[in-house]
Amino acid sequence: MEYKYQLPESEIPRFFYNIMADMPNKPLPPLHPGTRQPITPDLLEPLFPKELIQQEVSTERFIEIPNEVREIYAKWRPTPLHRARGLEKLLDTPARIYFKNEGVSPAGSHKPNTAVAQAFYNKASGVKRIATETGAGQWGSALSYGCQLFGLECEVYMVRVSYNQKPYRKIMMNTFGAQVYPSPSDRTEFGRKILKESPDSSGSLGIAISEAIERAASDPDAHYSLGSVLNHVLLHQTIIGQEAVKQMEQAGHMPDVVIAPFGGGSNFAGLAFPFLHLNFTQGQKIRFVAVEPSSCPKLTQGSFLYDFGDSAGMTPLLPMYTLGHDFVPSAIHAGGLRYHGAGTLVSQLLKDGFIEAVAQDQAHCFAAGLDFIRSEGIIPAPEATHAIASVIDEAIKCREEGVGRNILFNLSGHGYFDMGAYSDFMDGKLKDVAPDKKAMSESLKAIEKLQPEI
Ligand SMILES: *Cc1c(COP(=O)(O)O)cnc(C)c1O
Repeated sequence: MEYKYQLPESEIPRFFYNIMADMPNKPLPPLHPGTRQPITPDLLEPLFPKELIQQEVSTERFIEIPNEVREIYAKWRPTPLHRARGLEKLLDTPARIYFKNEGVSPAGSHKPNTAVAQAFYNKASGVKRIATETGAGQWGSALSYGCQLFGLECEVYMVRVSYNQKPYRKIMMNTFGAQVYPSPSDRTEFGRKILKESPDSSGSLGIAISEAIERAASDPDAHYSLGSVLNHVLLHQTIIGQEAVKQMEQAGHMPDVVIAPFGGGSNFAGLAFPFLHLNFTQGQKIRFVAVEPSSCPKLTQGSFLYDFGDSAGMTPLLPMYTLGHDFVPSAIHAGGLRYHGAGTLVSQLLKDGFIEAVAQDQAHCFAAGLDFIRSEGIIPAPEATHAIASVIDEAIKCREEGVGRNILFNLSGHGYFDMGAYSDFMDGKLKDVAPDKKAMSESLKAIEKLQPEI
């Protein structure tokens, strides 16, 4: 009876898989907010190295992974694929449940997959430091780790509410050598403006992004880096799914459904795209389910529109499912899923019906997380419990229908820094928070004026 599928180091993928090559409808272009015309790549050069800008727009199917990056991946990759037999038994389901464990990385999530690659390309471009934002602290830890490996300085703007709630994430970043500032901060014009209007602001990911971009744009030795949403970030994460395709072949059970939590789309895309490639090129009929929190439901209740990626409106306009860049989601524990929009690639695929989305309530997710902990012994990040909630829903459906489908999900990270959240749940203090419908329709209305004329 197999519990685990482990590939040798030689099976670390040699290429990133670019789904753009296989998409029937290519995503719409990013627009300049002033002219509403497609932006030219040179506009992004103050923020990103040329290589990453090329990857952002590339339509080449396979992009070679630099050797230096593969060597670092070998420290924890290929990650194991497990069969969750304990959970299957608990649910008394005929379904076969598999999960890819990305929590075994140095920072504890899938995010170092892109952080290491981004640090490599930035170092090669000659900059000295990278500015970035972090919500729950996962991305900040991953980039701090990546920067340290390549001798880059790392400046992290951490959403103030997380900075206060999760001191150990901040200290982890410090141990990797990064400087961490609570956002809004007094280090940027935008941060000072927010602080003047609301001195007690708890911050948001959008505000922190604006601060990091402002820092990078005003320093010729600095670049900016993003841990989700953008095409090149999703591209780097496809090493997860490429490994998982081989591991599911080993297991002899190709998935009927692939499930992953959804913040901006990077871990979902990372696991799903190489399987979606099989749908596109071999006529397979695998289903893909992105799971978002019901308090921040851009995929299930947002609109497909052009919107900014940040609060200050400093990024290009991106075509995406969004709740509007002014929307501030309530302070749920799955901080990594509190983002107003979805990546362009995933948005187009959802619009075209190649993937599905569901929203899950926070309390249902934590209950699912505890079922998983007690049957499998691994503590998932609150983000990852969203996938588990949907896995359990699917497995119960299999039981009711009497069919044994194969379910694969992404355990995008471990939850060892999230004991406070589990404690609140077990003490009955954790409430479900429905999104404010009025706030949602107002923030959506506010971006109507940004749309290009058709
Ligand atoms: C950041 C994060 C997410 C959400 O981000 P995506 O880009 O949508 O993957 C999910 N899980 C974990 C553990 C994270 O750190």
